[in-house]
Amino acid sequence: MPTPPFAPTARATRSVEEHRAAVADLLGPLPAEDVPIDRAQGRVLAEPVVAGVALPPFDNSAMDGYAVRAADVATATGDGPITLPVAADIPAGCTDVPRLEPGTAHRIMTGAPLPAGADAVVQVEHTDGGTERVRVFRAPAAGTSVRRAAEDVAAGAIVLPAGTVLGAAQIGVAAAVGTATLSVRRRPTVLVLSTGSELVAPGTPLRPGQIYESNGPMLAAAVADAGGVAALLRFVPDDVAHLRRVLDEHLADRAVDLVLTSGGISAGAYEVVKEGLTGRGVEFVKVAMQPGGPQGVGRVDGVGVVALPGNPVSSHVSFEVFVRPVLRTALGHPHPERPRVSAALAASLTSTPGRRQFRRGVLDAVAGTVREVGGPPSHLLAALARADCFFVVPEGVTELAAGSPVEVWLLDT
Ligand code: AMP
Ligand code: MG
Repeated sequence: MPTPPFAPTARATRSVEEHRAAVADLLGPLPAEDVPIDRAQGRVLAEPVVAGVALPPFDNSAMDGYAVRAADVATATGDGPITLPVAADIPAGCTDVPRLEPGTAHRIMTGAPLPAGADAVVQVEHTDGGTERVRVFRAPAAGTSVRRAAEDVAAGAIVLPAGTVLGAAQIGVAAAVGTATLSVRRRPTVLVLSTGSELVAPGTPLRPGQIYESNGPMLAAAVADAGGVAALLRFVPDDVAHLRRVLDEHLADRAVDLVLTSGGISAGAYEVVKEGLTGRGVEFVKVAMQPGGPQGVGRVDGVGVVALPGNPVSSHVSFEVFVRPVLRTALGHPHPERPRVSAALAASLTSTPGRRQFRRGVLDAVAGTVREVGGPPSHLLAALARADCFFVVPEGVTELAAGSPVEVWLLDT
């Protein structure tokens, strides 16, 4: 076989914003689906949750104690207790609560329905705890230790609007108003495809020139973390026919919302993704950023494809900058972007002109400073693993003094 030439370098350089817009065009918010409430964590509501019942559904006791009429024990003190007969016992779950007659008490447990005729609960600690008769040592005001029906939520009210991200508390309130399934946006399914003839599986001893494949599991984890579902295809060799075949196979079943490739898109001679997908709807460009200059974006058979660079740090940064917001938007997330804050650089640095740099850092949120870890090179994966943020050095900046303010993207929230 003749030696292939170097791949042509992309001529046009585009800005980070232009490429973000091109990737964002590939996928919008996905349709809704119903999921059982215990499988809804992290999903985003497509429709509001309407309260089927009020919360609380009925007046009930906030304490273990005695349901009384406040007027009957109005003069009770530690030295001059009031004694009342205990006419009934009301545990939580009691559905047939007898009326409280004047001059009597009902023993009542937390969450049990307040009997008609009662207007206060004396907590057990303010009584002698009697079961036949109870001595009350303190006078409760009317309403004491009573949780009123609907004081939290009225029946028919919207408890969670569409667009709510379902965390523990949101799932809790939806369950409390009687919800069994929730209408949420479908999760995007992402085919993560790693290219490179040097890539081998863990467990296989490395021959000289081989490395363990790491972008696949890394990007699959990033997809899952963004709320997507990853399908992983790890060892696609630098063979154009092979790449096209596996891609066609996976696109044929229409189950994929987005394809992420890694590797094979720069200026080398065996750029399998660039060769295989140029002319098939994917455009290869140079973005004014570091790491992650070479990028690809387009559609193959109608399915969005984002071609990420192979260097692991470039791949990760590119995912964060271009792909994660799109997956979160697909999921319906109201905040697709990472939170950004400003912090002061812990040490001075220099940067390449004309490139927006996303440098890896550790934020000291108390001191308001960010310290670089590892340095600019895009193969320093262990340093990336120690970082909890990126900080941004703008295109026009070549030097920053210690203490300069920089934009910080928080990665671990
Ligand atoms: P490429 O863009 O394919 O030339 O890859 C750039 C660099 O990233 C090379 O050093 C590759 O060996 C490395 N690389 C590419 N893909 C992966 C991967 N999936 N896992 C680990 N390293 C990779
Ligand atoms: Mg490669």
